[in-house]
Amino acid sequence: MARYKLSGGCACGNIHYDFDGELAMAVHCHCRDCQRSSGSGSAAIFAANRNDIQLTGKTSSYQYTGDSGEAVVRHFCPNCGSPLFSDVKTLPDLMFMRIASLDDPSQIRPSMHIYCDSSQVWDRPNDPLPKFGKMPS
Ligand SMILES: [Zn+2]
Ligand SMILES: [Zn+2]
Repeated sequence: MARYKLSGGCACGNIHYDFDGELAMAVHCHCRDCQRSSGSGSAAIFAANRNDIQLTGKTSSYQYTGDSGEAVVRHFCPNCGSPLFSDVKTLPDLMFMRIASLDDPSQIRPSMHIYCDSSQVWDRPNDPLPKFGKMPS
């Protein structure tokens, strides 16, 4: 497994993080919650172990019920509103980070599309990556 050493943060610089570790996964997510919180057709997300991410600054957050029926908490910068990461109750060891929040987002590439059932007609995935209607089991 590749080991990454990357940094990132929000648009205004209030929140910063360092990531030093391995990826659990990297996906394009087309779920309605990602669409709403990003204002776009999908969100590029990587998941990594919570212990491998050092966060500086205090996020604001809101909670909703995810597809699993369990709580998801989305964290964003209270100043500029940039979406940064989510905590998923069913996977408590992981943080689900927005790839675009990295200082160099080209370093992590999504390997699949998930929640394609809710992809928008104007943003259907059409690359060769695997596609799943919901979450792959
Ligand atoms: Zn900010
Ligand atoms: Zn999503």
